[in-house]
Amino acid sequence: MPSTSFELQPTHLWKHFEQILKIPHGSGSEKAFGEHVLAHAKNLNLSASKDKVGNIIVRKPASRGKETSAGVVLQGHLDMVNEKNSSSAHDFAKDPITAEVKDGWMHARGTTLGADNGIGIAAALAVMEDTSLVHGPLEFLFTVEEETGLTGARDIQPGALLGKFLLNLDSEEEGTYTIGCSGGGDSEISLPLKRKASRLKNAYRLKISGLRGGHSGLDITQGRANALKLLARLLSQAAPRIPLELLKIEGGNKRNAIPREAWADILLDPAKIPAFQAFLDKAGADIRFEYGSVEKEFQGRLEKIPLKKSDAPLTPASQSALVAFLDACPHGVLRMHPEIAGLAETSTNLALIRCAKSKAEIICSSRSPIAPALEAARGMLKSLAGIAGARIRQPESYPGWAPNLQSPLLQTMKDVYRKTFGKEVRVVAVHAGLECGIIGEKFPGMDMISLGPTITHPHSPEEGVDIASVGVFWKLLMSALRDLA
Ligand SMILES: [Zn+2]
Repeated sequence: MPSTSFELQPTHLWKHFEQILKIPHGSGSEKAFGEHVLAHAKNLNLSASKDKVGNIIVRKPASRGKETSAGVVLQGHLDMVNEKNSSSAHDFAKDPITAEVKDGWMHARGTTLGADNGIGIAAALAVMEDTSLVHGPLEFLFTVEEETGLTGARDIQPGALLGKFLLNLDSEEEGTYTIGCSGGGDSEISLPLKRKASRLKNAYRLKISGLRGGHSGLDITQGRANALKLLARLLSQAAPRIPLELLKIEGGNKRNAIPREAWADILLDPAKIPAFQAFLDKAGADIRFEYGSVEKEFQGRLEKIPLKKSDAPLTPASQSALVAFLDACPHGVLRMHPEIAGLAETSTNLALIRCAKSKAEIICSSRSPIAPALEAARGMLKSLAGIAGARIRQPESYPGWAPNLQSPLLQTMKDVYRKTFGKEVRVVAVHAGLECGIIGEKFPGMDMISLGPTITHPHSPEEGVDIASVGVFWKLLMSALRDLA
């Protein structure tokens, strides 16, 4: 069995990470890692508890003279994303991760490394045992199943934490503090479809492909095209000129991804193909003109497909309701953040559609750190569904974390960074969900910041951690605990 050992600074942090690499801890399998954390706390005579889902809280008393200082919570998630190259024989259920150090970076051999969030947890374990630190009363919160939907954080008991400040250790860029994230909520729309008989015997697929897609939050400001929106545009433009009958529309894969491909299966008189092709050439050129710099690989194509006996097209009313719904459905940024340049505040993603015989199922996914703005975005979708005669289900949303540029913790942490490193820290918020959103809702008034070392390509076998940035992260953490005490 290959083993991993390294002599890096700070030694106690890296010693803990070395141990973490030996304990399998993919999402849903954090039990052994949790036991390891509890044993460490017990060895140090610190009070520790585990809740029913596996989240762990450890308390460390203040250093001498700091007993009345405000409490600080250090927080991270126990789970990692298990991903490996197809050539790797690694068994995530039992094999230790093999880490390699090269050119100042640490990577795993053929698998994710788990620096996300293993380095943050290793730092917390080092803080627990380090008696040289100056700090107020400390709490450590370790959550489970962050990577699969922030589910551990959702189960934290209200009142479980006493601290006033929370440092989330799950950021992936040294030199940056994260101070906000979006909340989100889906809308599941079911549009009834009616079908009819047809004399047309030739079926074609109109397909949009080659788009870049991306994360529906992090990439929503990039101005990329949505394949479903382009398809709906083409169909609504074509309909008055060329009589076509719609069989189905499909596209998109995931709720949190911008659709890269979409297609419509249609019935068309073969005599109309030249006219349709001419229309498509012109409309395609218009799309290239509009998106050319960002969507260089865009393709819109018509191809012949076999017609099944059971295929019946939509009635004219169903066809226009479906196309109009997609064409009118909002997609993209609804509002930019008024104070943080480049940050989307509220957005919505027309994520996917599947057509069955008697209904079309459409999913939209909306985001905002501001709860009323999120509900207003979902309200628009509800109104649109009402106009189209569709049913809509809107499951409970998850909360965001609204950036507070006046936060006392942020002021202190900016000063700490400047004093420690002689330069300014960058302050950002992300248009995606983080555990701080959930935690903030459970502990109103908790002042939070997220920080961490530099980790590249998390969740993939290319994941790497910049070793020097871990030293900087540790130094920052020590200074922060001292200045917050
Ligand atoms: Zn993480």
